[in-house]
Amino acid sequence: MTDTNPDYGDPTTAPFWEAAARHELMVQRCDSCGHHQFYPRPFCLACGGDDLGWAEVSGKGAVYSLTVTRIPVGPGFEPPYPVALVELDEGPRMLTNIVNGEAAIGDRVRLAWKDRKGAPPLPVFEPDAG
Ligand SMILES: [Zn+2]
Repeated sequence: MTDTNPDYGDPTTAPFWEAAARHELMVQRCDSCGHHQFYPRPFCLACGGDDLGWAEVSGKGAVYSLTVTRIPVGPGFEPPYPVALVELDEGPRMLTNIVNGEAAIGDRVRLAWKDRKGAPPLPVFEPDAG
């Protein structure tokens, strides 16, 4: 962990990025009711409690929604590319990219990682035929 990396600056999200640096996908898990949530928040969306821990998830899920970005929005993201909302098997949905093939709404996907220079890797997803 370094305090010069802006992705680590928020204590609520720091555990997510520290795990991502190890290629581990972690989401918050409520120690009171067991609810999983993403993105990280200071309280549980299910019970309102603040007794939140972190749990590594399977990295398996299904495409909940999908679109294609056709205009450039930032460096490292050359259009066109798919932007998907992936529903993890543990419940939370993540805004992400589909890589290494194409996927449609409802298709099974699995976790991959997009490594970046000077920033933590991003969790992305690829088609999961198995
Ligand atoms: Zn809860």
